[in-house]
Amino acid sequence: MRYLVTGGAGFVGSHTVLALLDGGHEVEVLDNLSTGHRAAVPGGTKLHVVDLLDRDATDAVVGSRAWDGVLHFAALSLVGDSMRDPFHYLRQNYLTALNLIQSCVGHGVRKLVFSSTAALFGGPDRLEPIPETAPLLPGSPYGESKMLIERVLHWADAIGGLRSACLRYFNAAGADPQGRAGEDHRPETHLVPLTIDAMLGRRPPLRLFGDDYPTRDGSCIRDYIHVTDLADAHLRALAQIDGRSLAYNVGNGLGYSNLEVIAAVERVSGRKVPWEPAPRRDGDPAMLVADATTLRRETGWTPAYADLESIVRTALAWREAHPEGYAACGAPAEAGFAIG
Ligand code: UDP
Repeated sequence: MRYLVTGGAGFVGSHTVLALLDGGHEVEVLDNLSTGHRAAVPGGTKLHVVDLLDRDATDAVVGSRAWDGVLHFAALSLVGDSMRDPFHYLRQNYLTALNLIQSCVGHGVRKLVFSSTAALFGGPDRLEPIPETAPLLPGSPYGESKMLIERVLHWADAIGGLRSACLRYFNAAGADPQGRAGEDHRPETHLVPLTIDAMLGRRPPLRLFGDDYPTRDGSCIRDYIHVTDLADAHLRALAQIDGRSLAYNVGNGLGYSNLEVIAAVERVSGRKVPWEPAPRRDGDPAMLVADATTLRRETGWTPAYADLESIVRTALAWREAHPEGYAACGAPAEAGFAIG
């Protein structure tokens, strides 16, 4: 099959590109490289350096081949930034998706997998796993932008015949177990890479945001899903879209507290993590854990790296091999063509 992957130079996108290639599929990447890395696109894979805000350029790429499906990862993705700059987030994520979806409908693409988010489920704190049927109450403009796109996809299906799977991710972490890709956000704001870098002495001590949550040890609980398991969920969702659109939660259903993440990094590395208590971070729910039974039941998905040690071990291995992240890598992607 032939797939177009937007945001394929980013963290989850690049790991999904690897999973598609490993599955014997043909892949092209569309990315504006604003947060992604050219070096994260495997050599030989065509990279279209295109901004999805550019409707004509987007349409040219979507219309350039007969795609069996499109996977849409490209987006701004930081909850905190979206609270500071809501209109930028809403505009950017909504308009880019709208352009892409319209082109997909116009060119007769039949399947799209969309990176949605657990941030759809805001509202009062819940201390139990969240099912897909929970009310959608985004707690941030970031979550709101993703909910709007899910609604666009509803109409693209109803009127345009574009079937979709919205995957509501929980906390993606880890790195390709074969060491071909890893996590490199700039700035980095995520707990697992920050904890690893603090342990390696590459950053100041980790600031632990909040120690008085109503959880087992007072720190927040999150559902960390290995990025390779998440990539696998995309392939299974693609296979499952058959005449109907879908929405799945993607997580392990296992919650780990922030203090448990610190302890796991210490166990795996055999070194101490320097950390200090800090005030709560705005907008952080006490607990976010997925009820992913629908995904498991309908697609047979089972995480291969559900335990925190596997997640930390692969993330640490990539970081040790790439202390400067992708900055130190060459540019293996085949010279892409830039449109617009
Ligand atoms: N966190 C923290 N210190 C940091 C970064 C994150 O204590 O420097 C906490 C954060 O408050 C949350 C958890 O780690 O409770 C996961 O945050 P992350 O940003 O990795 O993912 P999110 O759940 O916000 O998508």
